[in-house]
Amino acid sequence: MDLMEKITSLAKRRGFIFQGSEIYGGYQGFWDYGPLGVELKNNVKKEWWKTMVYDRDDVVGVDAAIVMNPTVWEKSGHLKAFTDPLVECKVCHKRVRADNEEAVKDHEKTHEEENIWTEAKTFNLMTEVLLGTTEPKEKSYLRGEITQGVFVNFKNVVDSTRIKIPFGIGQIGKAFRNEITPGNLTFRSREFEQMELEYFVKPDEKASEKTFEEFKLVRIKWYKDLGMNPDKLHFHDHEPEKRAHYAKYATDIEYEAPFGWSEMEGIHHRGDYDLKNHGLTYRDEMTNEEFTPWVIETSGGVDRATLFFLIDAYEEDGERVVLKLSPKLAPYKIAVFPLLKNKPELVEKAKEIYQTLKKEFVVTWDERGNIGKRYFAQDEIGTPWCVTADFQTLDDNTVTVRDRDTAKQKRIAIDKLTEYFQNELR
Ligand code: ATP
Repeated sequence: MDLMEKITSLAKRRGFIFQGSEIYGGYQGFWDYGPLGVELKNNVKKEWWKTMVYDRDDVVGVDAAIVMNPTVWEKSGHLKAFTDPLVECKVCHKRVRADNEEAVKDHEKTHEEENIWTEAKTFNLMTEVLLGTTEPKEKSYLRGEITQGVFVNFKNVVDSTRIKIPFGIGQIGKAFRNEITPGNLTFRSREFEQMELEYFVKPDEKASEKTFEEFKLVRIKWYKDLGMNPDKLHFHDHEPEKRAHYAKYATDIEYEAPFGWSEMEGIHHRGDYDLKNHGLTYRDEMTNEEFTPWVIETSGGVDRATLFFLIDAYEEDGERVVLKLSPKLAPYKIAVFPLLKNKPELVEKAKEIYQTLKKEFVVTWDERGNIGKRYFAQDEIGTPWCVTADFQTLDDNTVTVRDRDTAKQKRIAIDKLTEYFQNELR
């Protein structure tokens, strides 16, 4: 089995990621997160919000609607830019205009394979929806990116808060694209989630470039701080001709996935493209100067980050599989066991500990099989610590705490456990 097959199988077997509508044969490009997957994904979002919104004084959040007035998409350029006849490379998913012979030929040179192109399609990435109860129904769209929800609320946010330029608006939410070749588990889906910061600055070449460089570092550091292998992360700058329709300049944070270096997050200098399109400006209260701010954007995929955290954490040690997830991301922080399930006094003590820890952390309970099997099972889902109530616990109110990565055990007093784990998770 190759690594992707192993990850896919683990994800299903242990309840991280299931194929969407699986009992009806699935539905291409749609995925469901199981009991452990939802915890992991929520933790990714929580950590993003903490770093990008709570830890900063210059960022606030919004949560805009998925369906917007269709005029938004006209103004943003998405209806026009997404309706060209395109062919997509089956190897690397690059799309080019079918009528751009030069680009087609150039790209063919980058692969050894032949017949790399899909059929040309008039290709609208936007997912249409029909609204209303009477005919004709009104055509609208599921948003193709969450970004526009921030721009259309730019004035609302400025007017309703005391925030002043430079400032950012953060958002996490679902986006939908009619991808023609979804694949690699959740990597390219038709429904996915994005986590984005739109950071508004004064129009100034030098200063905005500096902000762009700063956010590149903020974002790559975030992945590294959450345990991703730095050797598998790099920036990939976009050549001018490959930039999206809105970007002045752009770079991607790529992760070296089993299927090759792959975009995980885009960092874009959008200039005044968006606010100008929507006719929005900003007035500096001090100078009374009015201008169209420029935007630096960091646009990450929640599902791609979640998948790459899973892949990056996967390790095999003989028979043992360990998910070395950062404790901050691990679905369960702690597993609590009674040493033996048929000794009521041990079970009772372990239950008490479980109930106490549950008030502070996401904790799981296990009393199946022997202790070795339980460690094995917890390692495979990335639980950083296992707490066991044993016979010594009944004498001195201490428990063993076993560490996932070192497999070492310590004895810790029950009344010190909460503090111990709080410190570890800091
Ligand atoms: P790609 O070139 O891989 O299609 P993109 O350049 O179109 O990606 P952006 O429009 O910059 O992507 O979107 C920002 C982020 O949203 C991406 O870095 C990625 O993490 C996520 N994303 C985009 N499309 C998808 C998708 N189909 N499935 C899952 N995540 C996606």
